[in-house]
Amino acid sequence: MYANIIVDISHEQLDKVFQYKIPNRLSDSIQVGSLVFIPFGRGNRQIKGYVIDITNKLEASIDASCIKEIISVKEGSIPVEAQMIQLASWMKKHYGSTMNQALKTVMPIKTEVKNIEKKWIKSLVDSTTLQAALEEARRKKYVARVRLLELLVKQPVLSKYELEKKKISSKTLEPLIEKGLICLEKERQYRNPVLEYMNRLPKTKESQQIILNENQQNIVDSITHNIEQKDLKPCVIHGITGSGKTEVYMELISYIISKGKQAIVLIPEISLTYQTIFRFYKRFGNRVSMVNSRQSQGEKFDQMERAKNGEIDVMIGPRTALFTPFSNLGLIIIDEEHEGAYKSDTMPRFHARETAIQRAKMSKGLVVLGSATPSVESYYKAKHGLYHLYYLGKRAVSSSQLANTHIVDLREELKKGNKSIFSETLHKLILDRLQKKEQIILFLNRRGYAGFVSCRFCGNVIKCPHCDVSLNAHNNGTLVCHYCNYTIPFPKQCPSCSSNYIATFGLGTQKVEAMVHKQFPMARTLRMDMDTTSKKGEHEAILNSFSSQQADILIGTQMIVKGHDFPNVTLVGILAADLSLHTSSYRSSEITFQLLTQAAGRAGRGEKSGDVVIQTYDPEHYSIVTSAQQDYVAFYEKEIAYRKMLSYPPIGHLLALLVTSSDEALAQEGILCFANEINIAFGKKIQIIGPTNASVSKIKDSYRKLLYIKAMNNDTLIEVKDKIEELQEMYYKNKKIFLQFDFSS
Ligand code: ADP
Ligand code: ZN
Ligand code: ZN
Repeated sequence: MYANIIVDISHEQLDKVFQYKIPNRLSDSIQVGSLVFIPFGRGNRQIKGYVIDITNKLEASIDASCIKEIISVKEGSIPVEAQMIQLASWMKKHYGSTMNQALKTVMPIKTEVKNIEKKWIKSLVDSTTLQAALEEARRKKYVARVRLLELLVKQPVLSKYELEKKKISSKTLEPLIEKGLICLEKERQYRNPVLEYMNRLPKTKESQQIILNENQQNIVDSITHNIEQKDLKPCVIHGITGSGKTEVYMELISYIISKGKQAIVLIPEISLTYQTIFRFYKRFGNRVSMVNSRQSQGEKFDQMERAKNGEIDVMIGPRTALFTPFSNLGLIIIDEEHEGAYKSDTMPRFHARETAIQRAKMSKGLVVLGSATPSVESYYKAKHGLYHLYYLGKRAVSSSQLANTHIVDLREELKKGNKSIFSETLHKLILDRLQKKEQIILFLNRRGYAGFVSCRFCGNVIKCPHCDVSLNAHNNGTLVCHYCNYTIPFPKQCPSCSSNYIATFGLGTQKVEAMVHKQFPMARTLRMDMDTTSKKGEHEAILNSFSSQQADILIGTQMIVKGHDFPNVTLVGILAADLSLHTSSYRSSEITFQLLTQAAGRAGRGEKSGDVVIQTYDPEHYSIVTSAQQDYVAFYEKEIAYRKMLSYPPIGHLLALLVTSSDEALAQEGILCFANEINIAFGKKIQIIGPTNASVSKIKDSYRKLLYIKAMNNDTLIEVKDKIEELQEMYYKNKKIFLQFDFSS
């Protein structure tokens, strides 16, 4: 057997793999992740390396007679790097990717990041010696040196800043350093994003210490009891919005820290507002740090280093925070665990929930999954005893009430002759709230302005020539492709039939804002969508200004329904509730239920009670009915029946294989070949759906073919994936077709 080894884990070098022979005496003690000693280079200097793969295939470039052998294995505690390598190997196997892709996912990348250093000089001699040196410098008229020594006589330590202020350069310092009068000291400094956040924070009044209510305390007691009994089964906390889940998380983290361990808190990026960070900072001070996608490489890398060095106990962040190199990780919390953003959309397409459970297993830690609308997968596992299940059914602040919901049938509105985007009910309630100076959120279940452009005469829809999607109209007079940014001016005539009847369809946030201004001219509005939040800080600026009541109505897409508390909001209007029902995913009902429930949860979070108006063309759909009643369990029962009927996850398991190529015939041939071969190899154990064109059949001139494979057992699908990789290696090695695997389980 041979081991593939990386010797430098400084992260840029991950591609440099060396192969060594595993001597028989070590074959039992070496595994993926092992830290080994190897002879290296011409002089066979003994160095350390990490095993990233074990194989019986010798690299073609190596001669079997002169391959070197591993000398020994480091016994004892495994460093965190080894754990991360094992995790990468697990991800490679379960999600399909190269080892290199998997390693790059779990290791923070150190590119050309400069360390920040704090520098200062220190006097090494007593004051008489300094005084003598000063006299001498004065005699010789060394002006700069006199300035320096005068300072040093007064204070023996000078910061770089103080030196700069007095215009003392390193030329002045050097002779004194040589004479041994002073020395230069420096210390690595880490960037601290949390402090930066806190400094930007408006001063708030000190709030008092929260004491957990009985429900919260029971959950904390039960989970800590589990940990003490070494029962590390993942826990689901199903808690309605505002029921105090975050307080429970913090209590559990305190407990874990008291045991000398560390915690990771995953939060969807969009909910990672300063309010959230502030709550954790107040509790854990400088022992907490955060990562997010807007940080610089240096900032991110520093946070990972701080974690490794034991400077912090808690890391908060989106998906990637899962790979924080804590050496004694005791707890991983995944808030809003149902969120789609926990699934990676690049290879390996890992799910943070499953990967967290795997990582926790390695470090003997616990995973806690929290949500007001748990994923059907997690709830199913909890119901079947694979996870513990806890429930928080009341809002933590007793004065805050759940809202009244009204479902409005838009078809009826049209019959009554109301063609506006606001139903009668919603219109009346908006007027009422404007009068009472209470705030309103209008939620639109989609992105951007207006959507697609088509010809009302011939029906032609204007599409991107490189991607098979319709172009979106932006109100600066252009049409834009959201996949590749292809942009053209808004056409005056239909490119297909030359008629003038060309116009935008659908409803966007800008249009909603325009309608609000028309019907409620006195209302002050804010709009939050992809367009208004593309720059750093814009997202929070909007939330802050709405929070401080600088606007009456906040209009936005998905992103407004998450993470922020607005106590003065007493009305939420959901303008087109069913739009998300009509996507091609088997999850569309679940996603709709989650969105509507979260949106409804925004109303009445303060002392005043609230109303939610759900406008829809599909008022009987169970996603809409159950979300209006805020009845998760009723939704779950309907949904799981549907999943059972069609063997969709979590009952069955699903693997999507995407084959892409710039040569359409080659992509088609490839996917047919894979479909045939796995059909022969797996027969009745799997069900093959397709192949078809992907719903977007071309992106950036690359053709996309899709195949679904269903199986009752996820391990079968992993074997299917391995088989497809083999086939690719056998038949398509040097041809330009690319595979992507996507597991849903
Ligand atoms: P969730 O995470 O479930 O949405 P939070 O933890 O954010 O809920 O709690 C909602 C609000 O209730 C917050 O303002 C929080 O400070 C407050 N809260 C939570 N638990 C308590 C408690 N035991 N006593 C008083 N206030 C609480
Ligand atoms: Zn036309
Ligand atoms: Zn395009």
